[in-house]
Amino acid sequence: MKTFYIETFGCQMNAHDSEKVVGTLLEQGYRQVETPAEAELVLYNTCSIRDKAEQKVFSRLQQFKREAGKGKTFGVLGCVAQQEGERIFERAPHVSLVAGSASYARLPEMLVQLESGDKRVTGLSFDRDEAFETPHTRRDNPHRAYITIIEGCDKSCAYCVVPFTRGPERSRTSQSVIREVEQLARAGYTEVQLLGQNVNSYRDPSPAGWNFATLLERAGQVPGIRRVRFTTSHPRDFGRDIVDAIDRNETLCDHVHLPVQSGSSEVLKRMDRLYTRGEYMRRIEWLKGTRRDIAITTDIIVGFPGETESDFAETLDLVREVEYDSMFIFKYSTRPNTAALQYPDHIPDEEKTRRLMVLQEQQRVIQLRKNAQYIGRKQQVHVEGYNQATGQWIGRTSQNKTLNFTHSAIAAPGDGRTLVGEYLDVLVTRAGPNSLAGEQAA
Ligand code: SAM
Ligand code: SF4
Repeated sequence: MKTFYIETFGCQMNAHDSEKVVGTLLEQGYRQVETPAEAELVLYNTCSIRDKAEQKVFSRLQQFKREAGKGKTFGVLGCVAQQEGERIFERAPHVSLVAGSASYARLPEMLVQLESGDKRVTGLSFDRDEAFETPHTRRDNPHRAYITIIEGCDKSCAYCVVPFTRGPERSRTSQSVIREVEQLARAGYTEVQLLGQNVNSYRDPSPAGWNFATLLERAGQVPGIRRVRFTTSHPRDFGRDIVDAIDRNETLCDHVHLPVQSGSSEVLKRMDRLYTRGEYMRRIEWLKGTRRDIAITTDIIVGFPGETESDFAETLDLVREVEYDSMFIFKYSTRPNTAALQYPDHIPDEEKTRRLMVLQEQQRVIQLRKNAQYIGRKQQVHVEGYNQATGQWIGRTSQNKTLNFTHSAIAAPGDGRTLVGEYLDVLVTRAGPNSLAGEQAA
């Protein structure tokens, strides 16, 4: 039997693509192994969102350079593959497969080419306008399942490679998405996460013509489904109907990830984000105006070309006003093909680092204060695991917060008893900036 190893870098979209790739390989008679050393086929599913992410795959490939020719085949999948294309063969001549995510439907065909000894197999075109659907997805998590509803991106943010690496937007039909949710529910999944680079730009290509809010609502009504999450939402396409859908449906989780990138309208304009600070803040008001306790998280880029001290001060100010539950902060990284590459006034790295640290510290204090508000309150968690080192169960609240807790009856997994997969009410007794702790409530 042929063996393969796969390592995944980057976002949830990549993690889920790998689940589809693994399912397809198993279907083709391959067996997955835990280390590259044991594998005949070594695959890297790559990320190129920032320069550092891209460099990682080349350093991985260097480590195994000498293994090629000893019966090992190397493949580069994902965003670096799409971005660098056949240049990868020059930079790492022991690689035989280079394929972007829009070509995974052709994977079985590409495997046949590899097996017949072809040393330059590529899948780099965007000629298919449908999303990659496969019945063979091998899911890593038995309780929470990812579902891609839209692939690619039609925006053109000045800093971002995604439109080049993942191609134009392609939405799946609402019927096929709901069918997948129903199948997952029958298989015992209770939580699903709808995925897309801009998940809320979803447009049903079938005559039913659902928008994202309708799809979300219907997914939450599938019997057996207790939690629906979605990521990532683009603020421009984030309509009031999405907020109303969350407010109406208990199964839609109390969490929205709404990347703002900057608090300065001037910077947002140069980023080509298609919204102003004021328009973004209106969406925050909608979310805060619901009956639900909706956690809001975001992404911020510091040190975008031309970002002045006063632009950065506006970001700090917006962050204080919104009081995010958590955020990812990135130093701006120059990316090939993007508009911002040509912009003047690039910011020195030390200054980007300084801004990142200032923002991080401000946010740490906000998170600590926000999380402390949960002390003394009961929260429902979906149990995800057990931490041997701390002797605590690991749960996740609807707000997507980690809540570590002890349980009076089942102190640890054993004798066939586990809490993983269950939904429990937990009393929050302590709070840190990044997680909560508590005891199972009677
Ligand atoms: N589509 C989502 C949106 O528009 O908000 C974001 C998807 S992107 C994969 C995830 C995050 O990476 C972005 O929100 C942005 O903060 C960050 N990012 C993208 N390009 C970047 C760059 N060149 N430098 C630094 N951060 C970047
Ligand atoms: Fe990148 Fe902008 Fe598309 Fe998000 S919307 S994936 S940041 S180009």
